[in-house]
Amino acid sequence: MTELVDVRTPNPKNFFPGEDHDWELVIGLEVHAQVTSNAKLFSGASTAFGSEQNSNVSLVDAAMPGMLPVINEECVRQAVKTGLGMSAVINKRSVFDRKNYFYPDLPQGYQISQLYHPIVGEGTITVQVGPDKAGKFETVEIGVERLHLEQDAGKSMHDQHPTMSFVDLNRSGVALMEIVSKPDIRSIDEAKAYVTKLRSILRYLGTCDGNMDQGSMRADVNVSVRKPGGDFGTRCEIKNVNSIRFMGQAIEYEAKRQIDILEEGGSIDQETRLFDPVKVETRSMRSKEEAHDYRYFPDPDLLPLEFDDAYIEEIRASLPELPDQKRARFMEEGLSEYDASILVSDKSYADYFEKVAEGRDSKTTANWVINDLLGALNKAGKDLDNSPISPHQLGGIIDLIKADTISGKIAKDLFEIVWNEGGDPAKIVEDRGMAQVTDTGAIEAAIDEIIAANPDKVAEVREKPKMIGWFVGQVMAATGGKANPKAVNELLQKKING
Ligand code: ADP
Ligand code: MG
Repeated sequence: MTELVDVRTPNPKNFFPGEDHDWELVIGLEVHAQVTSNAKLFSGASTAFGSEQNSNVSLVDAAMPGMLPVINEECVRQAVKTGLGMSAVINKRSVFDRKNYFYPDLPQGYQISQLYHPIVGEGTITVQVGPDKAGKFETVEIGVERLHLEQDAGKSMHDQHPTMSFVDLNRSGVALMEIVSKPDIRSIDEAKAYVTKLRSILRYLGTCDGNMDQGSMRADVNVSVRKPGGDFGTRCEIKNVNSIRFMGQAIEYEAKRQIDILEEGGSIDQETRLFDPVKVETRSMRSKEEAHDYRYFPDPDLLPLEFDDAYIEEIRASLPELPDQKRARFMEEGLSEYDASILVSDKSYADYFEKVAEGRDSKTTANWVINDLLGALNKAGKDLDNSPISPHQLGGIIDLIKADTISGKIAKDLFEIVWNEGGDPAKIVEDRGMAQVTDTGAIEAAIDEIIAANPDKVAEVREKPKMIGWFVGQVMAATGGKANPKAVNELLQKKING
C-alpha cells in the first residue's frame, strides 16, 4: 500500500547464508499493543484481564441493534502519548473506518479501525542491537509508518465442548494500537531489539503493559529476502506471533524456506502464514487470492477526531523520561554504555537501580545490580518483580562495603545469605561476626606468625614484589577472610620491606 523506500546500506554483518550466496532479510512489523485503560475503546465495559468469560461485555460490545459507539477519550490520549514517545507526527485530524468481515467472534460484522487517516503518522524508533563480544552496541534507526487505533475482537473457544464452539466477548471492543514499522529491519537481532525497545517505550509511557504472554502485545511479522542491496522481494506475513523468542524462530524458518525456494529457481507467493511454536515452522493460512476485500468506509456513527496544538503540547509536557534519555543520563552520571543499556532495557531494572543508587556510587550499584542480582535472578529463572532481595537490602550490602565493615568477598557471601534467608544485612553481619578485622593488632599477630614460619618466601618477595599476593592470601586464610585487605597490604609492606 505504502511506497517502499530502502533507507539502509547493506551490512555484511547482517547477511543470511544461502547455498549459492548470501541473502539479505527484509522485515517489517505490525505490532498490536493493547491500550492501558480501564474501559474499552467505544464502551464503558472493563478491560480487566482474566475476568470470568463474557462478564465484561456491554450492549455495544455485543453489537446489539441500535447501540452507538462513544469514543473513550483516555484511549485517544494514550495513542497520542505513544506517538509522541516515538517522535512521530500526530495527525490533528483522523477518521475511524469500518473494516467489514464475518467471524463468529466479531458480532458487529466489522471492526472499527483507521485505514486512510490514522491518528499518528511517521516516527522513528532508535534501537540498540547487541551487545557484541566486545560489549558494544550498534545503534539502528527503524522507521515507523503509522500508528492507528482499532478494536480487538472476541475469542472463539473450540475446546470446551465436544460438539459446540463458544465465544468469549470480554476482549471485544478493547482498544488496540497497531504500530506499523517500515521495512527497515535487516536481521533477526534487529527485529528482536525493535520489539524489545518498542515494548520498553510503551511501558515507560504507561500506554500498554507489554505483557506478550497475556496477549497485550503481539506482532504480525512480514519477511522477504533479496540479494544484498537488490530490489525488495515478495513478502510473507506471519500472523499473531506472541513472544520475542517465537518471532526469532519464525523469521529464521521463513527466511530459510524462502531462500530454498528461490535458490531452486522458484518464486515466493505473497501469503499469510501461521507460526507453529511446537513444530517450529510456519504454515500457509491464506494466499493473496484468498485475501478479504474489507470494503473499508468511514464509520458513519463516529465523528473524525480533531486536536488543537494545545492538546498535543499538554500531552507532550506530561511525557516521562524515556529509555533513550535515561540511557544518556546514566552515561553522563558515569556508567558505561554497556551498563546503561542493560539497565534501561527494562523499566523494572532502571527503577530498581535508581532506588539503590540514590545516595550511593552509581558504578558500584550498577555492578551489583547487573552482575550479582540480575545474574542470580537469571540463574533462578526469576524476574526482578519477585526478587528475593529488595533495593533497600542491596543498598544495605553496598553501604557495608563502603564503610569498610565487610570486604568485597564477604559481601558476596552476605548477598547469598540475604537472598536465601532475607533479613537486614547489617544485623546479619553483626550476629554472625562477619565484620572485617580492622584491629591492626590482630592482623599484625597473624602476619608476624606467617613471616616467622616462611623466611624463604620473605626473601622471594624482596626480589619479586608481586609475590606479596601469597602473603595476603595466607593472612586472609588465617583470619577467616575477615581481615581488611587494605590494612593487610599496608602492614605487610611495612614488615617485609621496612
Ligand atoms: P498491508 O496493509 O497489505 O499489510 P503495508 O504496506 O501496510 O501492507 O505493509 C505491512 C507491513 O509489511 C509493514 O510493516 C511493511 O514494513 C512490511 N513490508 C512491506 N513490504 C515488505 C517487504 N518486501 N518485505 C518485508 N516487509 C515488508
Ligand atoms: Mg498487514
